[in-house]
Amino acid sequence: MRILLVEDDKMIGGAVQTGLRRQGLTVDWVQDGLSARTALKTETFELVLLDLGLPGMDGLQLLQSLRSAGDRVPVLILTARDSVTDRIKGLDAGADDYLVKPFDLDELAARVRAVARRNTGRAEPVVEHLGVTLDPANHVVTCDGEQVNLSQREFALLEALLERPGHVLSRASLEERIYGWGEEVESNAIEVHIHNLRKKLGPTYIQNVRGVGYRVSSGK
Ligand code: CA
Repeated sequence: MRILLVEDDKMIGGAVQTGLRRQGLTVDWVQDGLSARTALKTETFELVLLDLGLPGMDGLQLLQSLRSAGDRVPVLILTARDSVTDRIKGLDAGADDYLVKPFDLDELAARVRAVARRNTGRAEPVVEHLGVTLDPANHVVTCDGEQVNLSQREFALLEALLERPGHVLSRASLEERIYGWGEEVESNAIEVHIHNLRKKLGPTYIQNVRGVGYRVSSGK
């Protein structure tokens, strides 16, 4: 899952980025509202972690401008303890959830997963599809009941494909999903990950749609 973190406090931003990356999430970090808006216009993120007090355009303005432009990206607000009014304003402006600073990184990761899950219309925390299960919280994948060891990228790629079984994702959109800014991507990286996933999950679980991209079999 790829996340945009918008936070001007360097210590908090750094800790959140490092902490969530350890949980296997791709986290890109900007430190002001305008950079966030530009990033959201040009790239796809599954979730935004939004501090409210930001230089230039503040978090609430950013959120309002996103929602009035019809952007429904899930937003989780990070706020100070004493700012109840801000939290209410944020939720009313279209935020999906909030967390009060200082927060526990495990709780943040759990809320991120919950918001992302709701956004994809799933109620169950574990994804299950044609004999494969993926548990985002515990980072466990099983195939026919046996645990399968996946690298962080393989896990992220499978997670992206399992969001909508049968739906084709292009190589470019998969790259965008599993690599953050400044991360070196080999030109055949996605092919290599797919190759490895097929070895681990069976040769037909992930299908190549020539000239379009990849999907997990819809089972039909
Ligand atoms: Ca701030």
